[in-house]
Amino acid sequence: MAAGDILAALGVPRIINGYGTNTRLSGGLMAPEVVAAMADAARACVEMHHLQAAASRAISEATGAESGIVTAGAAAALMLGAAACMARLDPARMNRLPDTAGMPDEFLVIRSQRNMYDRALRAAGGRIVEVGIPDRFSGPGVRDASAGELAEAITDRTAAIFHLAGEQAEPTLPVVVRIAHARGIPVLVDAAAQLPPADNLRRFIAEGADLVCFSGGKAIGGPQASGILAGRRDLVSSALVQVLDLDLPEAQFVAPAEFAPLNQLRFLPHHGIGRTAKTGKEEIVGLIVALRRFAAEDPAARSARWTARLKALEGASPRGALVPDGAKPGLPLFELRFADAAAAARADAALRARDPAVHLDASRIRRGMLAVNPIALDDDDLPLLADAIRECCA
Ligand SMILES: *Cc1c(COP(=O)(O)O)cnc(C)c1O
Repeated sequence: MAAGDILAALGVPRIINGYGTNTRLSGGLMAPEVVAAMADAARACVEMHHLQAAASRAISEATGAESGIVTAGAAAALMLGAAACMARLDPARMNRLPDTAGMPDEFLVIRSQRNMYDRALRAAGGRIVEVGIPDRFSGPGVRDASAGELAEAITDRTAAIFHLAGEQAEPTLPVVVRIAHARGIPVLVDAAAQLPPADNLRRFIAEGADLVCFSGGKAIGGPQASGILAGRRDLVSSALVQVLDLDLPEAQFVAPAEFAPLNQLRFLPHHGIGRTAKTGKEEIVGLIVALRRFAAEDPAARSARWTARLKALEGASPRGALVPDGAKPGLPLFELRFADAAAAARADAALRARDPAVHLDASRIRRGMLAVNPIALDDDDLPLLADAIRECCA
């Protein structure tokens, strides 16, 4: 069978994904080595905490963190990370979540960093407390939340500071970490889409974050429903025990060294808050293999591989040009510039009306731009994509 034949047999229309690893477009494509590892893992059984210990070793190697687990996506990692910041290593608290009575449950968030992925914190029982007036974004001012305002907002109800990683973030992560650690509270970082550059795998941990979340299904090239939670051993251990199935006689559970703090628990919690976001062995193995491949590939070679893909589109339209992505070093885009937003929207609609439908990055369509992101493209689709651009973007 050719790639995707099962989807055709199910009557699902295939698309050409030039948008990127978006969840609604089914993420990206996995390397044959990752697919093979998942298929192999599906044919044997293990105890899940032994597999997560192997994941922890791979994640530590790639990120520099003390421990790590594979989760059902970055959003699940955020939920588990939030649960860990609230319950810590108290099994009674774990059993109570999302009821947070008697525990710190507030997550301080810089107002300009609010986004709907922070629902994951609320799903665990957390409450979002916004800090600062980001008038640099609304126009009349130049400031965002200040370090002083953030420090002032910490109370004994604060579970953690939640930080959305990005070049725009203010205060910067090292400053946020200094403020949080001065008061003994952790910093939870959403770095879901902060790859490339590959250096970012280590950067946020190196800057002092207590927990960092990455998507497995974006640039890492792992399974679409996988993610990483990396960080302090006590917090990652708390997260793990809230997603494991611990329906066994307690004496039988011996935590691996990677999660040693779990051997100190007063008792084992039952199915935790993370039970609704369980990770299968196939995803865990797929993520481990994909992460190793991503970390091992020379960033310049990866960038050249993506650029070669987009070069196949050069000349298809006078509107198109190869440009670097503004936010992600090493990621090239094939940018198409139209006279105005309406012209870009017409081209986008024409591309999506084709068979197979062509989806391009439309995040800047209001500025009259579409872009081809190379990450989720299939090399075999490049001639079809060039034809589509030739016909719809003249
Ligand atoms: C993609 C994304 C997520 C969710 O990641 P999943 O792996 O799809 O769960 C969370 N936060 C941000 C900022 C993202 O871009």
